[in-house]
Amino acid sequence: MRIDILTLFPGMFDGVLGSSILKRAIDKGFLEVFTHDIRDYSNDRHRRVDDYPFGGGAGMVMMVEPIARCIEHLKGQRNYDAIIMTAPDGEAFNQHKANQLSMFNNIMILCGHYKGIDERVREMFITEEVSIGDYVLSGGELAAMVMTDAIARIIPGVISDGASALSDSFQDNLLSAPVYTRPSDYNGHKVPEVLLSGNDRLISEWRYEQQLSRTRERRPDLLENE
Ligand code: SAH
Repeated sequence: MRIDILTLFPGMFDGVLGSSILKRAIDKGFLEVFTHDIRDYSNDRHRRVDDYPFGGGAGMVMMVEPIARCIEHLKGQRNYDAIIMTAPDGEAFNQHKANQLSMFNNIMILCGHYKGIDERVREMFITEEVSIGDYVLSGGELAAMVMTDAIARIIPGVISDGASALSDSFQDNLLSAPVYTRPSDYNGHKVPEVLLSGNDRLISEWRYEQQLSRTRERRPDLLENE
C-alpha cells in the first residue's frame, strides 16, 4: 500500500515513520509513505501557499493552486482509491474506517493548516473528509500520522503476531482484556490466577468475560451499535 501525504511540514513525519511498527512496515515493503511539500508546488517567488480570507476575519487560508497542482501531479502518476482531507468537521475516524482504508492500494492524505483550506479544494478533489476527534489541532499532520499508524498495523504481515492486531480493542466492537507480564506478584499485586493456569479454554473464557464487562462499564455505546 502507498500513502502520499501533502503537507507544509514534511519534517514532522520523520520520527513517526522512522520508528517502531511503521518503520518495520516500510522496511518490510508492506507500506510506502511519501510526503510532498505543498510549497514546492507554489508558483510564487516566496513559495507562498496561504492568503487572507475573502470576507475578512482572522487567520490565513491555504490557497487552491499549489494544492491542486500537487494533487494533479500525483494523479497523473497513478490512480488513487481515496483522496482524503483531514478536517475537524469530517467523518469520525475509527477502527472501521482504518480497516476500510487498509484495503486500498493508493491513498492521498491532505493536511491543512492555519484557518483551513480553501473550500474549493474539497469540492474539486476530495473523496473523503476525516476527523480524528472533536478538538481542533493546529494542523492535519498529527491526524495523518494517526491514520497512517492505525492503517499500517492491520496490514496482514506487519505485526508479526497477526492475531494480535485483530484482538485489539474495537476490532469486534469490544474493548480488549487487561494484559499482564512478569512478575506474577508485584508487591502483593497479583496477576489473575486463571492466566497462570495453563488452561487455554478457561483463559479465553476469562478474556472474553473481561472484554464484555469492560465494554459494558466503559463504552456501553459500542454494544448498542452491534
Ligand atoms: N478553522 C477550522 C480548523 C482549522 S485547523 C475549523 O474550525 O474547522 C487546521 C487544520 O488542522 C485543518 O485544516 C485540518 O487539516 C487539521 N485538523 C484540525 N483538527 C483536526 C481534527 N480533529 N481531525 C483532523 N484534522 C484536523
